[in-house]
Amino acid sequence: MNVRVRFAPSPTGPLHIGGVRTALYNYLFARKNNGTFILRIEDTDQSRLVPGAEDYIIESLKWCGIKVDEGITEGGDFGPYRQSDRKEIFGKYADILISRGEAYYAFDTPEELEKLRLDSEKQGKTFIYNAAVRNMLKNSLSLTEAEWKEMKESGLPYVVRYKMPLNEEIHFDDIIRGHIVVNSDTLDDKVLFKSDGMPTYHLANIVDDHLMKITHVIRGEEWLPSLPLHVMLYRSFGWEAPLFAHLPLLLKPDGKGKLSKRDGDKMGFPVFPVYWPYGETAKGYREEGYYPEAFVNMLALLGWNPGTEQEIFSMEELIDSFSIEKVHKSGSRFDPEKAKWFNHQYLQKKSNREIAMEFREILRAKGIHQDIVDLEKLVGMVKERVNFVKEIWNETDFFFRSPETYDPEVIRKRWSNDTPQKMLELAAVLEGINEFTPEITEREVKTWIQEKGYNTGAVMNAFRLLVVGASRGPHMFEIISWIGRHETLNRIRKGLEVIGKIQA
Ligand code: GLU
Repeated sequence: MNVRVRFAPSPTGPLHIGGVRTALYNYLFARKNNGTFILRIEDTDQSRLVPGAEDYIIESLKWCGIKVDEGITEGGDFGPYRQSDRKEIFGKYADILISRGEAYYAFDTPEELEKLRLDSEKQGKTFIYNAAVRNMLKNSLSLTEAEWKEMKESGLPYVVRYKMPLNEEIHFDDIIRGHIVVNSDTLDDKVLFKSDGMPTYHLANIVDDHLMKITHVIRGEEWLPSLPLHVMLYRSFGWEAPLFAHLPLLLKPDGKGKLSKRDGDKMGFPVFPVYWPYGETAKGYREEGYYPEAFVNMLALLGWNPGTEQEIFSMEELIDSFSIEKVHKSGSRFDPEKAKWFNHQYLQKKSNREIAMEFREILRAKGIHQDIVDLEKLVGMVKERVNFVKEIWNETDFFFRSPETYDPEVIRKRWSNDTPQKMLELAAVLEGINEFTPEITEREVKTWIQEKGYNTGAVMNAFRLLVVGASRGPHMFEIISWIGRHETLNRIRKGLEVIGKIQA
């Protein structure tokens, strides 16, 4: 079988990470099976279109490294790939269903339907447009042919509805969920074609999946309720249906309910792959400093795992080990801390040079220009402490500027009357060292401490306070070797002066 799958988003706003995961699983499945991955834009609901959303989807997939084989930018033999550009196709298929008696024209106005809904509600019921009531409503099944033809020709707005059969068990299979049976009485006569001349999602989706020769429909669980109708539509057209796989929901970090577009703002982590710049703007993983490989790795494991302990997967490894059968049935809880953990892992795998190049940009924006070789050394000292390149600044600011303040808590605990004298001795030791490398400075300073019988902790803590301003940062001798002898001695003198004044 020539596997063909599609990701079929509606451009109604930024693409949620759940949507990105759907795209990813389709992509992995396609690659794994030497198949084709199609991007189809489902924009037939013109009232919900949001300008910029289509480009956003394309940009997001590109950032994730999800490569589209056929789509609006790539082209392909089954285009156009934007449904509004296929408008002319769908009317014909609605007509086919009508001619077969599988669909009908309905003339009920939105106001009439609203009234029916409200009346049912008052009686504690839900109004369903179906076999039980359709004969009492205004459609080509209840009216005489002469009547409905006249209404249609007079230009009255109408829709085409699917004629859902009465009391029938609909059987179908889902790769993830197994065999499912639904009674048709629980379903309504869905609108397939609207009065604005556009198909609804259901008709366009089935027709396009058929025309684009889609073999597997892999999509979010929220579409499972539509599946019985889709299965019926395939039957009515006499087409072989593709295989279906409905992916589990992404849940909020506390496991209570679906991760929604609003959760990101509330909980402080992005729910979108890249920054959404329109109207109510929203944060993206890209701008938060995530590597696309880390983001993709994290997403892939939300709802799937190969059944081993392995957690770090390159895209190639994901493709290699992916199978729909291993996708979980139950929802996957999104864990923002785990997302950071993934980025941490990918950051550690980068070379110091690569990280230094990124960090250099951050420094440039601060007006700091530093040699790349120095930055490489710096990155080597602190990368284990950070999840993101942007966090390196907070770990290293004191490399670039001498402290303005000295942590009072450290002064209280670590500063005694004889500390200034010891620090002056230390300065003299440092001044006499030929090569200011971490190894040699460490050796000389430790020898001096031993000879004098000083307490190493006391000396080193005070030393750090003078150079860094607080008790933080990497190895002291790495720091002083990086900033150099001149700067180290300056900081000791300046610190002694400032702390001396504070104490006076
Ligand atoms: N247009 C639908 C969506 O926005 C596609 C659902 C499907 O894949 O069938 O998610």
